Amino acid sequence: YRHALPDVRALWQSTLPFADRTYLIYRDERLTYAQAHARVDAIAAWLAARGIKPGDRVAIAMRNYPEWLLIYWACVCSGIAVVGMNAWGTAEEMAYALADSAPKALFLDAERLDRYKEIAEPLPGVTLVGVRLRGPESDVMSFADVIAHRGAMPEVVIDADADACIFYTSGATGFPKGAQLTHRGCITNLFNMLYAGASTALATQRATGVAPPAAPPAPVSLLTTPLFHVTANNCGAYATTAAGGTIVLMYRWDAGEALRIIAQERVTSIGGVPVMARELINHPDFATTDLSSLTALSGGGAQVPPDLVHKIEEKVVSARPSTGYGMTETCGIITSVAGDFFVDKPDSAGPAMPAYEAKCVDEEGNTVPPGETGELWVKGAAVIKGYINRPEATAAAITDGWLHTGDIARIDEDGFIFIVDRKKDMVLRGGENVYCAEVEAAIYRHSAIAECCVFGVPDHRLGEEVGAAIVLKPGEVLDDAELRGFCEGHIANYKVPRHIWFMTDSLPRNASGKFLKRELRDRLCQDRPAA
Ligand code: ATP
Ligand code: MG
Repeated sequence: YRHALPDVRALWQSTLPFADRTYLIYRDERLTYAQAHARVDAIAAWLAARGIKPGDRVAIAMRNYPEWLLIYWACVCSGIAVVGMNAWGTAEEMAYALADSAPKALFLDAERLDRYKEIAEPLPGVTLVGVRLRGPESDVMSFADVIAHRGAMPEVVIDADADACIFYTSGATGFPKGAQLTHRGCITNLFNMLYAGASTALATQRATGVAPPAAPPAPVSLLTTPLFHVTANNCGAYATTAAGGTIVLMYRWDAGEALRIIAQERVTSIGGVPVMARELINHPDFATTDLSSLTALSGGGAQVPPDLVHKIEEKVVSARPSTGYGMTETCGIITSVAGDFFVDKPDSAGPAMPAYEAKCVDEEGNTVPPGETGELWVKGAAVIKGYINRPEATAAAITDGWLHTGDIARIDEDGFIFIVDRKKDMVLRGGENVYCAEVEAAIYRHSAIAECCVFGVPDHRLGEEVGAAIVLKPGEVLDDAELRGFCEGHIANYKVPRHIWFMTDSLPRNASGKFLKRELRDRLCQDRPAA
């Protein structure tokens, strides 16, 4: 059974029979599986003709255009590791990632090409390919020449433990690190995704009493986050491709545009960070949009505030709320939960996937009893091999196969994992730890709040005090005292934010849509003398 082979080539080859189905949609462009295969073969043959071989790397610096995925499959199926470059990054960040990963070729879209030119000394020995189907003409080799190349995908034998791709972590806690995702890891994560999908279907069945059809219709997934991260790529794109489904891409996240696409393309699933689900529900067009095709909604990559779980349950009739917790270092999801289980424990990210062992440990690495908090460590076939060029960071992150997630969690008697905070984000207030996610969840219960972010503010007496940046929904008014009074009704006094900033603009987010908490905190605290 070819799917059982832990290499990504077998996965892509298994989609050949879906020939006439629509594979990719971007604006008014549509590509069938047959067309996608023809292009992937051409790209792979072109790479081989240029002497780029298994074990080499090829970088992609592009927005979520259809070509992103075609280049990805061509490389990975040829045993060439894809370096996913942050398309939102600056020229300097691009220079760093290119020097770090040393690719043989770099595929760029028009905007990235301009940025590449700002790099003081572009790297020698890198073939540049301009994917400029949607931009001004340029002087680099055109992608049209690549896909015009004739030839079949070369036959190569791929080691399951070879790198399939190098993805940089989001950089929430420091400079991004190039994580090595192996073929085995990517396929293991695919199995985890299929398991999570089956669990969601069961949750829907429990809620509606209607058994899912024996042959469910192929999924239509709207990918809202960048393809150079595991959420869109290893979770969204892999699971949809394996099921012969359709992937819909957006240039950038926009809630109104997403609602329009969901109705028009009959989207069945939408992945993204939780704040996107909140924006969909808060959008003026939400009530009048036909969302009946959606089977699951919510997202992962960041804590889902419990009020949002209940709002989805209440407001989106067809879709079950669901989430997954995961990270670059695990090629995707570690946990998932949907429907009634999630509604019963809305602050949990669900139990660990079958492919993982999970435990919470104290500072010495000893397992803590169920229900107590500690750093979450996980072990399984999808844990990355390490970070390129960073042996010390790799050694610090993985001990005997156990990945130190850097997240503080507790695991209850049922095996449900509750992510309480990032180890580095927790507010150390006097002798007490205050977990940002708990405070954020309390604040989100107030109906006037559109966005909020909680963080530690330097304090000479307590070390840190609790601070919060707040964006109100349009037309709402609220002051510090009222918000503090509201919080006091839900959380202990010492967790109630002492410093509150009401912001007029949306809070800053990274490419995946997660809040840039450190940047925001540094900016807001900069001019404050330690109180
Ligand atoms: P960096 O490692 O560079 O600081 P990052 O950790 O944000 O950046 P990712 O690998 O994209 O990079 O994100 C993984 C992290 O996102 C997890 O370690 C966790 O802190 C957070 N996260 C992901 N899913 C969830 C979830 N469902 N609930 C709470 N937190 C989550
Ligand atoms: Mg991380």
